[in-house]
Amino acid sequence: MDLSSLTIDAARLAVKERSTTAVALAERYYGKIESGDPKIGAYLTLSKDHALAKAAEIDALVDSGEKVPVLAGVPVAIKDVMVTCGVRTTAGSKILGDYVPPYDCTVVARLEAAGAVVLGKTNCDEFAMGSSNENSAWRPVHNPRDLTRVPGGSSGGSAAAVAADMAVAALGSDTGGSIRQPASFCGVVGLMPTYGRVSRYGLIAFASSLDHIGPLTKTVKDAAIVLRTIAGRDPMDATSSDLPVPDYVAELERPICGLKIGIAKEYFGDGLDGEVRAAVESAIQELAQLGCEIVTVSLPHTQYAIPTYYIVATAEASSNLARYDGVRYGFRAKAKRSLSEMYRSTREQGFGTEVKRRIMLGTYALSAGYYDAYYLKAQKVRALIAQDFREAFKKVDAIVTPTSPTAAFKLGEKVDDPLAMYLADIYTVTADLAGIPGISIPCGETKEKLPIGLQILGKHFDEETILRIAHAYEQSAG
Ligand code: GLN
Repeated sequence: MDLSSLTIDAARLAVKERSTTAVALAERYYGKIESGDPKIGAYLTLSKDHALAKAAEIDALVDSGEKVPVLAGVPVAIKDVMVTCGVRTTAGSKILGDYVPPYDCTVVARLEAAGAVVLGKTNCDEFAMGSSNENSAWRPVHNPRDLTRVPGGSSGGSAAAVAADMAVAALGSDTGGSIRQPASFCGVVGLMPTYGRVSRYGLIAFASSLDHIGPLTKTVKDAAIVLRTIAGRDPMDATSSDLPVPDYVAELERPICGLKIGIAKEYFGDGLDGEVRAAVESAIQELAQLGCEIVTVSLPHTQYAIPTYYIVATAEASSNLARYDGVRYGFRAKAKRSLSEMYRSTREQGFGTEVKRRIMLGTYALSAGYYDAYYLKAQKVRALIAQDFREAFKKVDAIVTPTSPTAAFKLGEKVDDPLAMYLADIYTVTADLAGIPGISIPCGETKEKLPIGLQILGKHFDEETILRIAHAYEQSAG
């Protein structure tokens, strides 16, 4: 069986029709991880006993002749910011280095209820803060397409695992681009659903008003299957929506001709790499060929998105990360003198540089003297960015942009320059701030054979349309 072309349906069918067993398939993937992952570093923890027990359950179900669920026997990987019962979950941080959660994240519980086999937990930037995966406290991830380059971040382990055939599908989280940007750097599909479409219960919080969970997969159809499985109201997350979950898969084949696609000049300005621009422009041509009408739209507040994002995200992070005090979770530093010395040394030793930088920035932005000037102002600008999209979506069904201004950069290239790293998020943070869905799909390669990503943004709760457009493009380009 060729793992490189194995999709969810193909894996499930193979298990169902017994051309393999779920146990044998999981073993195959563990073999691949054993041989390939030392060079890549996609996984932090493998949950082999758990996975093989689950796979054996699926095989027993197949033997019994009962109906097999939609992800039966499908090997998946989970970003290490989602808690898994009995399996170490670190959020890429030393402060949670030995943390073994007592419960499952809702999305993981839903995948397993649908028959998925969780192979392990994937590497990521510490607390999902980063764009290159170099902020992991454990080790950086290398891009499977070129080991000297970053896989993107912060869900770099999930993207690399799928790209290197070390999982059929994976879950990531996106606060400012962390599903879409690594998908684009590794040449896979990455979908960020609307805020509220998927429960965040059991997701280790970075910035709660921006955090989203979504799939990284090889095909658009696989993203639709995973989204359908994990979406929908969860009583454990008050921000999860009770809107009905459409059958995304059934809608995929509906023709896209007549749809209006918006193009915003703000996403094609200075700083956009020439090869990326050319690939995205030719993808837009392709969509026009498929019968879409291309319409110019304006998103005038885009220029403020990066500062706005880095104030809101750091403010929320500074509050969310206050809970890591050495008492309630994970790591505790040895301290002889006092409780406050223990708090201080735990946080000093447990958090990495980028996390500390953000706690300081966020605490500053929220402090009494600066709240109005920074945090409140950022919230107002956030509302204007959301308003830009609302206006644009009166005219169009979706908006197409590059996912990232460049293809994957070299490891080490931006680590010493946090501002350059932050600017790499310019095309992705706007959707998080507005709470709208976005997908990144491959749309070509640079001369050096590095993947390029096309981003399609949609209206609130209209994942259906962006999936349809992405699927139509994938079929015609592929
Ligand atoms: N790169 C962005 C940041 O560092 C986005 C991270 C994310 O989406 N989790 O905050």
